[in-house]
Amino acid sequence: GFASPVAASSAWESSARSYAGRFPRVFVAAQGPWLIDQDGRRFLDFLGGAGVLLLGHNHPDVQAALAAQARPVGNSLDLLTDAKLSFVETLHGVLPGDLARTHKIHFCGPTGSDAVEAALKLAARATGRRGVIAFHGGYHGMGQGALAVSSSRRLREAGLLMAGQVAFCPYPYPLRFPEPFRTPEAAAGFCLAQLRLMIEDDHAGQELPGLVLLEAVQGEGGTIVPPPGFLREVEALCRRHGILLGLDEIQSGLGRAGRWFAYEDDGIQPDLICVSKGIGGGYPLSLLLFDRRLDVWRPGDHIGTFRGQSIALVAGKATLEVIARDALPDNAARVGARLKEDLARRTAGHPKIREVRGLGLMLGIETDSGATADALQAALFQAGVIVETGGREGAVLRLLPPLTIGAAEVEACLEAFAGALECVS
Ligand code: PMP
Repeated sequence: GFASPVAASSAWESSARSYAGRFPRVFVAAQGPWLIDQDGRRFLDFLGGAGVLLLGHNHPDVQAALAAQARPVGNSLDLLTDAKLSFVETLHGVLPGDLARTHKIHFCGPTGSDAVEAALKLAARATGRRGVIAFHGGYHGMGQGALAVSSSRRLREAGLLMAGQVAFCPYPYPLRFPEPFRTPEAAAGFCLAQLRLMIEDDHAGQELPGLVLLEAVQGEGGTIVPPPGFLREVEALCRRHGILLGLDEIQSGLGRAGRWFAYEDDGIQPDLICVSKGIGGGYPLSLLLFDRRLDVWRPGDHIGTFRGQSIALVAGKATLEVIARDALPDNAARVGARLKEDLARRTAGHPKIREVRGLGLMLGIETDSGATADALQAALFQAGVIVETGGREGAVLRLLPPLTIGAAEVEACLEAFAGALECVS
């Protein structure tokens, strides 16, 4: 193993609790999918700042766009700037379907959690109903509202507000469902029946919600892809009862899932879409796309200082342009399918690997325990690949590589994985 190079420093003391403890190196440079530590050792970064780095580190086109800003406006709050106008134009150009016409943009601040808070507030205001249905395994952030709609009991212990207004519905997760719900179809049917009861049974114990909020592909919950048709059925139920449909695409959006938004192939039209992570090109930015008919906020109703960071808008615009120009959603679909297949083949029959799943370059490998996932994560790190763990009991290895990767990175990852698997056999 690596001796910690920094164990004695106070910076280490203050940050060693989380990833720094698992990956005890000091990273001094980064390019594309590679992180480079102080000894010049290269690591394949499949953590990507928790999925922020859609183009990897320091993409030349993003760097060029930032460098071309001779005297950028700093923080503009919600003044219009050329950076904001051209960001919005570019975003409109890439939004799938009719979204550019049907939806407006509310800039929310630096974090994904900010976009979720905005969605919760806008839904309550627009419907006059404060209840929300969220889903088992859902993760939406650390703000008090975002936490209230996130399902982890451990995290929710810190929650103070709103908890009583949120009810949780199961999200289709065949691998961990009891018989006879262990096929995708049966799992989806079970969850939809639950949702229908929660909404339609007068004795469901909660007021009729104003919002159903979910991830199109669950990320932190363990990289869980709902079966085809599931989202369409959820939408139909919402429509029947005047409930708004909110999609959290903070992790799954912008090409990650092999299309601009993960929900796209389901033929639905969410009322609210939360976007963050990669939208700022690596810099903090989040926004809410909301149906024009929900434009009920008056000026000042939902504000915040950091809603006009030029650097994030410039980097975000350049990132969207590269994703579109290089057809990176297609690349993510193609490379992701190949990586998923190869991982599945190489792990088939391994007693400690339960399932390889995912969509595009949002991949998960479910192991038999958190201890196995931790051991694999550590072995992968030794072999030069950095991945996240998550999901129930932390038993899932989560891969969020840049959308730009190709055959070489896939090979490097598979090779490291083969070695790591031997460590846990
Ligand atoms: N929603 C989803 C789906 C996420 O994955 C995350 C972050 N992992 C968030 C919301 C919260 O984003 P942030 O950490 O920027 O507040």
